[in-house]
Amino acid sequence: MAGAMQPYALTLDHFIDHAAKWHGATEVVTATGDGGTSTRIGYAALRERSRRLSGALLSLGLAPGDNLAVLAWNSQAHLECWYGAMGVGIVCHTLNPRLAPAHLAAMIAAAADRVLVASADLAPLAAQLVSLCPGIAHVVLIDEPGGGDVAPDWGGAEVWRHEALLDARGQAAAWGGFDEQAPAGLCFTSGTTGAPKGVTYTHRSNYLHTVHQLQADASGLGSGDAVLVAVPMFHANGWGLPFAAPAAGAKLVLPGRHQDGASIAALINAEGVTVAAGVATVWLGLVDHLDRTGGAVPSLSRLMLGGAALPQALMDRLEQRLGVTVQTSWGMTELSPLGTVAPATAPRRRAASAGRPPIGVDLLLTEADGTPLTEQRGREGRLRVRGASVVQRYFGQAEPAVDADGWFDTGDLAVIADDGQVSITGRAKDLIKSGGEWINPGEIEAIVGALPAVALVAVIGRAHPKWGERPVLIVEPKQGAEVSDAALRDALVPHVARWWLPDAIVRVAAMPIAATGKIDKARLRAEHG
Ligand code: ADP
Repeated sequence: MAGAMQPYALTLDHFIDHAAKWHGATEVVTATGDGGTSTRIGYAALRERSRRLSGALLSLGLAPGDNLAVLAWNSQAHLECWYGAMGVGIVCHTLNPRLAPAHLAAMIAAAADRVLVASADLAPLAAQLVSLCPGIAHVVLIDEPGGGDVAPDWGGAEVWRHEALLDARGQAAAWGGFDEQAPAGLCFTSGTTGAPKGVTYTHRSNYLHTVHQLQADASGLGSGDAVLVAVPMFHANGWGLPFAAPAAGAKLVLPGRHQDGASIAALINAEGVTVAAGVATVWLGLVDHLDRTGGAVPSLSRLMLGGAALPQALMDRLEQRLGVTVQTSWGMTELSPLGTVAPATAPRRRAASAGRPPIGVDLLLTEADGTPLTEQRGREGRLRVRGASVVQRYFGQAEPAVDADGWFDTGDLAVIADDGQVSITGRAKDLIKSGGEWINPGEIEAIVGALPAVALVAVIGRAHPKWGERPVLIVEPKQGAEVSDAALRDALVPHVARWWLPDAIVRVAAMPIAATGKIDKARLRAEHG
């Protein structure tokens, strides 16, 4: 017999409805640069502006289920695009401005985007995309001023300015009323290891991801928090925090395009930020700035980091210099993105541990062929994931992305400790096969990355006539520091087999960084492989 509870649709408009009703004056703040200025709005007013944008988007010919391309930094206007689109069932297709125009054009064509929203300072790139994508009929420029007046050639596309569009077409539209399985967002993976693949998030998957993200051992946000989202909204839902903050009634602080240490420090102090999320490079910029200027960020208590392995020395430096607790995490675009997160209360603070999964995300360690490891603790395996916020099928593909039992293979390697803490030990796709045996670059990188003279490190495979592949160690020394080949080898010898030692050591002044801020191994392979 069926139960008899309400069929309340898990759609994302509820988050802003809730925030507007119960936390109407709680602010969304955006840094505009220019000497530390910012714009601010309460959730109630933001809801009204977003509903007017919904009406405007519908008037441009978009219908529920259509994709809306958005090329923008983290800002109030970007957030209004999310809720304005999603509230009426339009799908927010977020684009990473750091990708090559040809890649972006291919994503726009695949998604059949007809309207492109762009930050005004990205107008030249937006115009290039319009010339490459004849399907784009309308461009909406947000976050002016910022270069939007540099009038590029927009071809046949009609160009709107955000405020003018609201004035002309902003009839508030009603939200909701569609199925929770309707698409809400589309995000392509950055493609550092292969062709970019699209992930279509649903309202239900993002709603439940928000519930995962809000658990106490995860972001644990509450109405007393001010959360700085320095992770880009164009990358995997900004870790779901633009949903979680209004859902929790937390103040949302957005850095715009100003991610340098000085801007971030000023914003944290001006807005009393308590929790901040982003990749390590942003926080490194912040501590470097504070070390130079002697400042502090006393309101900040937690820092959420993820997206790549974190060296212990950097974690220690961040915790000590900022006076915060670092929460490491592991995730990927396909997981919306949260996979595991280390609780802020963990007694042992180890950078190598990415914590545990929240309820709603399940993990399994397997052999390469998908056979579950008989022992799930203390042994390395391939990490598979199952859950309501995990991809089932990539955008535009008929084949499922999961195995017969519904598990998605992440391609990551992991060890789970006795207490359930997960350590990501490498990427299966990065493994080097030497003489028929596997070498894990992740293990070598962790050892070399811990050396004080090393800023960044990567290990790649180089073709070898006898062994198939041999490891090459690539090191970016810290500014002014030197590290000899002998010192690098001496650091590795006690920890790895002799045949794991690199055949060659290359020093680079600057490691190539991909569009999502991670080391670009594809480029390293092309240049040094
Ligand atoms: P891409 O796969 O294109 O880089 P993502 O941004 O989705 O796109 O990256 C997800 C990958 O990032 C994971 O599969 C994993 O390899 C890596 N990653 C994420 N978090 C961590 C972490 N805490 N430790 C090590 N690797 C991580």
